[in-house]
Amino acid sequence: MKRYNTTVVFTTLLFVFFSMQAVFPWGDQGHKLINKMAVEFFPPEMKAFVKWQDYLSLHAPDPDYRKKTDKNEAPKHFIDIDYYKEFNSGAMVENEDSLIKEYGKSEVIKNGLLPWATLNTFKELTKAFEDHNKMEAEKLAADLGHYVGDGHQPMHTVLNYNGQFTNQKGVHFRYEITMVDAHLEDLEESFQPVSAPYIKDPLNFIFNYISNSNSVCGVLFAADDSAFAQSESRRSTEYYRLMWFRTGYITKVQFNSAAEDFASLVYTAWVNAGRPSYRSMK
Ligand SMILES: [Zn+2]
Repeated sequence: MKRYNTTVVFTTLLFVFFSMQAVFPWGDQGHKLINKMAVEFFPPEMKAFVKWQDYLSLHAPDPDYRKKTDKNEAPKHFIDIDYYKEFNSGAMVENEDSLIKEYGKSEVIKNGLLPWATLNTFKELTKAFEDHNKMEAEKLAADLGHYVGDGHQPMHTVLNYNGQFTNQKGVHFRYEITMVDAHLEDLEESFQPVSAPYIKDPLNFIFNYISNSNSVCGVLFAADDSAFAQSESRRSTEYYRLMWFRTGYITKVQFNSAAEDFASLVYTAWVNAGRPSYRSMK
């Protein structure tokens, strides 16, 4: 009994401390699938790196687990981008230092650092390719896939990340874990690999897909309301059937884009590093 109470107290404390959206991941399975499928998007000249597939998939959730030991990790997984008036007026400031100058460091951290965490991981990956450091490059690529995956989860890009402002609390978990985990096979079958393109301006590219993600939030929140209205219970099988019916298509698009965009950034890092051959990396 005492043990149970300790657990309850601890869990409550966790919720109090992590009231921001940093507690939410796509879910291990969603991240693993995106990282696994991304290698199918590697251009022909990078085909040797398909050998990374198992590692990238297995380690896709690692950054979420780092939150437990590294207090700087949590804000790297989201950006509440509609907090910024520049975004809402269609002219987002992409430079981190410029935003910090305008809003202050703590405010920028509070609203999430996802785009810059993604960019920094991309830069570190480029360096690892330059150094021909295979283990480091593989590890950083797995991390990069995670952050790109988070950038494609619409609720990682919005202030109302858990439906807390619209009476839809818990929608984040219902959507990205309960619903997604029940449709992993459908999702896996829906990928349509193409040869990932080279990206000229990685930070702008990252902001573009985040902006796209944010733009489909409305579909997800409307689906939650509608499924609830029809089923009268957000825990019912019927609720989840309707949720998938209304959001399955957009979820497949997001997963496919996540894998392609991740592959594009890996390819770009590799090209920028001088295209080191797989065999030359130690
Ligand atoms: Zn995450």
